[in-house]
Amino acid sequence: MTAKTTPDRCPSCGSDNLFSGHFDADDYAYPLNIGDHTPEGVRWTTFCNQCGSEVLPTTERVRSMTRASYRFGVAWIAENDEPISRDPDEIAGFISTLLLADLFGKEPLEVAKAIIRYRVKHKVAEDYQAGGTLAGV
Ligand SMILES: [Zn+2]
Repeated sequence: MTAKTTPDRCPSCGSDNLFSGHFDADDYAYPLNIGDHTPEGVRWTTFCNQCGSEVLPTTERVRSMTRASYRFGVAWIAENDEPISRDPDEIAGFISTLLLADLFGKEPLEVAKAIIRYRVKHKVAEDYQAGGTLAGV
């Protein structure tokens, strides 16, 4: 996904003294009211008041939800939502588990079991289980 954004500084001289408006083909400011027909050659753009360069919008990649995956969801719930619990029925009732199950078309109990497997494998909250407190907390 990409989006066009106008830089807030002039790429030529670094000034933030920029001016946006309608300009004609000769780069003269063209007064235009909202709703007015835009004549041929007139466009909305930004100029630098310091050096006169035209500041063109740049195309940037928009950060997308690259971490949105089933495995990420399982790991997140395993680490964050009642990390002490290893009871499948209890975990299957968490709102976070129900959301993940709904998003990925799975049964809540299936998701709960994946969360427990993660907790066992990664020894999540082992310190709690031992009756102590989490290290470093
Ligand atoms: Zn400039």
